[in-house]
Formats: sequence, structure tokens, C-alpha cells
Amino acid sequence: MTVRPLRDRRYVVETDGGTYVVALDAGTCTCPDHAIRGSRCKHLRRVAMEVTAGTVPAPDERVGACAVCGAETVVPFDAVGARLCDRHAFDPGTVVRDRETGKRLVVAAVTTERADAYRTDEGRTVAEYPTNADYGAHEPVVEAVYVEAIRSDQSVGDGDRYGFPASRLTGRGD
Ligand SMILES: [Zn+2]
Ligand SMILES: [Zn+2]
Repeated sequence: MTVRPLRDRRYVVETDGGTYVVALDAGTCTCPDHAIRGSRCKHLRRVAMEVTAGTVPAPDERVGACAVCGAETVVPFDAVGARLCDRHAFDPGTVVRDRETGKRLVVAAVTTERADAYRTDEGRTVAEYPTNADYGAHEPVVEAVYVEAIRSDQSVGDGDRYGFPASRLTGRGD
């Protein structure tokens, strides 16, 4: 039995005996077994199993692509804007390094706005800055605060936030 997610949140289940469409949230399947007994057929159970195992996205999720590396990543079904895979995303509070200046920053937020759409206080997009020319204009902007600017009586959220294309910041030693 193989399960493939469709674009409308349903799943195609292919078996030796036929191909059926399962709607997990509605609890329906197009197989005769389900039509006659109205019970949970083996196709519904199989889809539920694969969703739990993470081999197919849940009905409220879909497969998107990481803006930095293009790797497949599960995102909310209605997600718009740029996304990052687990390897390229940052948790708020992570200390990162700016590849251009070598300075340390603390991540305040990962937005879903692209670098060529996100406007700074100066009214320019993040992508327009010459120092960001080497990073993807399609990447989501990460807002971060310079470590040196954080005073001991402040929380990170109180500091001045600057927007960076995601791949300009690195949390690893590279
Ligand atoms: Zn079925
Ligand atoms: Zn990635």
C-alpha cells in the first residue's frame, strides 16, 4: 500500500486491489468496504499511521521547500512566505554570528517575509543593502539584536532589532 498526499488535503492510497481516495479529517474513503460498512477501513488506518510516523504530511500541513537549501520541509497548509528547514531555522534566543562582520547577535524572531519584501526603518528592503547582495533575496528575514547592545537590565525583545537574510547568520562555527 502506498500513500500520496493530494493538493486538497486528501490522500491517494494505491493497493493491489485498487486505488482509493481518503479524507482523513472527514473520516471517509472511496473503497467499497468503507461505503458498505461505514467503518474505518484499512486505507484510513494506513493514512493515519503514516501521518503519525511523519512519512506523509498531516491534512493541515503540506510539503514546502527551505528557502536556503531547497530541502523539503513540512509547513502549515495555509503557509505563505518564505520558510526554513530545521537545519537552517533559528530558535528565538539563539546566539548567532553575522558572516559579514563576525559580530554576535541574539535571534529575536524568524519572519516569513522575504528579504526583498521586508522593509527596514530606512524604508529599504533588506535585499537592497549591498552587504546582503551575496544572500538570497527570497530568503526569510531573521530579526536579531546585537549582543553588545543588550544591556543587563533589558531583555532581548527590548533591544533594537535588525533584519538579516537567513543565511547571513550562522549558529554553527562556520
Ligand atoms: Zn478504504
Ligand atoms: Zn535548509
